[in-house]
Amino acid sequence: MEFVDRLLTCADCGGEFIFTAGEQLFFLDKQFKNDPKRCKPCKSRRSGVTAAAGPGPAAAGLSRTETRTECSECGVVTTVPFKPTQGRPVLCRQCFKTKRAPNVATPETVAASAKLVAASAGASMGVDHPKVQAELSAVGQNTAA
Ligand SMILES: [Zn+2]
Ligand SMILES: [Zn+2]
Repeated sequence: MEFVDRLLTCADCGGEFIFTAGEQLFFLDKQFKNDPKRCKPCKSRRSGVTAAAGPGPAAAGLSRTETRTECSECGVVTTVPFKPTQGRPVLCRQCFKTKRAPNVATPETVAASAKLVAASAGASMGVDHPKVQAELSAVGQNTAA
């Protein structure tokens, strides 16, 4: 089988490049089934990009969905990593944090935690005496009131 230099078209830049007889022999040797698709500059540029971390700077801006929107709580312009749904409130980082933070202890939460503590304390001590149980629930009620 005889090889002659062939002129191929680069899939990337559309330019023509020579697929030399030697390269064809190399391809045959490696059992590559397809002709090279890209010229040398494009090939090296591609492998260079692949070696680098992720896509180039141009594509980096598109890799993340950041939407500019206004905080429905304080009105500050903020970016969110998702597309806000129409009508749904969007909070800025600060407001989100404030909302998520445990509220200033309300009587309900104090009573609940007091009951929880009393219950677990009684359980860990193995107390099942009716009087102690009554006292424990009384503690909860007092805190709730
Ligand atoms: Zn090219
Ligand atoms: Zn806000």
